[in-house]
Amino acid sequence: MSDHSNASEIVIVGGGIYGTSLAYQLAGTGKTVTLLEAGEIADGASGGPGERGVRANGRDLRELPICAVSQRLWGEYQQSIEGGVGFRRVGGLKVFDIPYGHREHEVRGRMATTAATQASLGTPSQVLTREETLAREPELAAGTIGAIYCPNDGVGDHGFATRQFAKEAAKAGVVIRTGARVTGIVQSRGVATAVTLADGETIPVGEKLIVVANAGAEALLKPVLKPYEFGPVWNLMPQMLYVTNPLNKTVNHLLSHAHRRLAIKQLPDSVLMLSGGAHVAYTQEGLWKGSLSAMTQNVTDAIQTMPFIDSSSFLKADASRVETVTADLIPLIDQVEALPNVIFGYGWSGHGFAISLGFTKLLTDWVISGVKPEALEPFSPSRFHAPARFLADATLGRAAA
Ligand SMILES: Cc1cc2nc3c(=O)[nH]c(=O)nc-3n(C[C@H](O)[C@H](O)[C@H](O)COP(=O)(O)OP(=O)(O)OC[C@H]3O[C@@H](n4cnc5c(N)ncnc54)[C@H](O)[C@@H]3O)c2cc1C
Repeated sequence: MSDHSNASEIVIVGGGIYGTSLAYQLAGTGKTVTLLEAGEIADGASGGPGERGVRANGRDLRELPICAVSQRLWGEYQQSIEGGVGFRRVGGLKVFDIPYGHREHEVRGRMATTAATQASLGTPSQVLTREETLAREPELAAGTIGAIYCPNDGVGDHGFATRQFAKEAAKAGVVIRTGARVTGIVQSRGVATAVTLADGETIPVGEKLIVVANAGAEALLKPVLKPYEFGPVWNLMPQMLYVTNPLNKTVNHLLSHAHRRLAIKQLPDSVLMLSGGAHVAYTQEGLWKGSLSAMTQNVTDAIQTMPFIDSSSFLKADASRVETVTADLIPLIDQVEALPNVIFGYGWSGHGFAISLGFTKLLTDWVISGVKPEALEPFSPSRFHAPARFLADATLGRAAA
């Protein structure tokens, strides 16, 4: 039975970077918070080996202003939280060459306009010449013509950050329950009043329920969302490769490439991490199945970008973490129409770590003020359905009749 006298004002479902950083921020406003996690903290996409890119360079324009806030907060929390949050501001470099069939003026035009747009949306972005680029990253391939440099980009130890926010949230009074799988939302008179756990326990909801359960979100929300509140979402298992660095070279930045699905990072122990777009098969059981083609593609792209990587030896591949992805590669964030005290956020589309602190700041502002921040509007799932309604209402063809 639920006991509302003991209800936390805010109940959060999901102990990834979203749930833990949101819990931490909300606790700082004086709210009472309970966080429910099915497994352990950082059991999902926010855990696993290596580091995540904290990248604004090359992001969807709708996300850029929020990413700028996020990158500021990564720096601030790195300083203010005891032991930091595993963030290193190494700067991001998006490398350009001229792919087969492309014209140099197109590539240079894209470089210049992308940098200018990013800068005007809050991400300092500088076009580097070939010489300036090679001065920063001497190991880049000969065909490099330049780069976009974003000094605020960096990398983060995602599992450490997630656990640090959980630890700080607990210190601030958040009740964190692990091994607490939420199976249902209890409602009465148009509000969510509690959630049920797999073991039958009921956890009361005082004010707001916030579902940031990534791969577990849709199943939980399905019974309470109307069909037009769903966004098209699928599951992805990105592959991370780890290779040795036998020549003791350095990769100084978070590296990405203008037309290769690639990210190269050098971890603090000098190991090279290759990722950025190769995926493995996802099964219904949530298991992953590796593939030589995904590895080959990733390694080939990396060697074409930094030829010295051809001397590396394979260490390991990891693709054990599931991420939700939307059709337009930006997340789904909104409140449930039938239960306005339920807010959800998922579908981070493979780049949710970098921007997490910006989104959780906006979610915190929303909870405290009761007003949805305008910056969140582009992420409502209604973006997939409003055009359909518009077309249905239109009198196309009638004028001619
Ligand atoms: C391999 C990989 C590489 C990535 N690289 C980058 C990168 O370089 N840069 C970047 O910005 N982003 C990257 N991302 C994306 C980023 O890691 C994710 O967007 C982010 O971690 C999502 O955080 P989350 O808190 O929403 O989800 P998660 O970390 O998945 O947390 C959700 C939690 O909810 C729990 N849960 C699920 N269902 C229930 C339930 N019913 N009841 C209770 N708990 C439940 C899960 O156990 C899980 O712990 C990458 C993702 C992956 C998988």
